Amino acid sequence: MVIFFGPPGAGKSVQGKLLATKHAWLWLSTGQLLREIEDKHLHQIMARGELISDQDMNVILGKALKKVAGVSDVVLDGFPRKVEQAKWLMDNLPDFKQHIDAVISLNVSDTVLFERLNTRGRPDDAPKSVTTRSQAYHDQTKPVLEYFQKRGVCVEVVDGQASVEIVNQRVEEALRSCLSA
Ligand code: AMP
Repeated sequence: MVIFFGPPGAGKSVQGKLLATKHAWLWLSTGQLLREIEDKHLHQIMARGELISDQDMNVILGKALKKVAGVSDVVLDGFPRKVEQAKWLMDNLPDFKQHIDAVISLNVSDTVLFERLNTRGRPDDAPKSVTTRSQAYHDQTKPVLEYFQKRGVCVEVVDGQASVEIVNQRVEEALRSCLSA
């Protein structure tokens, strides 16, 4: 399993999908899973830029990971976003027959992030929601990196400010470095 990490607008989904396609792995995005569920309440929370509850999130992701247990390698995008979620994932990896090969953290400056989100047009890309999502990233998601490092998971920081193809090459390099570590 490869986990993509980074603030909203860093390119997690673009890079995650590309990596998954090139290796014939499964791309699993929690944001995408949630957008596909018809639930007004969930979508209202998302539109405000807030995180949905760990309980709901873990049930939804748990089902998706159980379905592919032992079948395919997975590129995970958008999870974990909190240390509690990271703990849950580590505890349940054997159940999902998965192992974390690498955490790829995409690094992009705030100015570029806001520019990218401004042109994307998702309901949660409205300025107020973007601020809430960025805040959630800084307060709740960033500590996840340290948690993974402490647990011995290979974390690689990749400069995400270049063309899609160049960032993909950097991601592949980071992944190779984790696999050979
Ligand atoms: P994303 O597509 O990753 O930007 O996610 C869009 C929205 O889905 C987030 O702003 C949250 O509202 C919700 N979401 C996605 N992943 C998670 C998660 N791991 N925990 C809680 N909420 C999530």
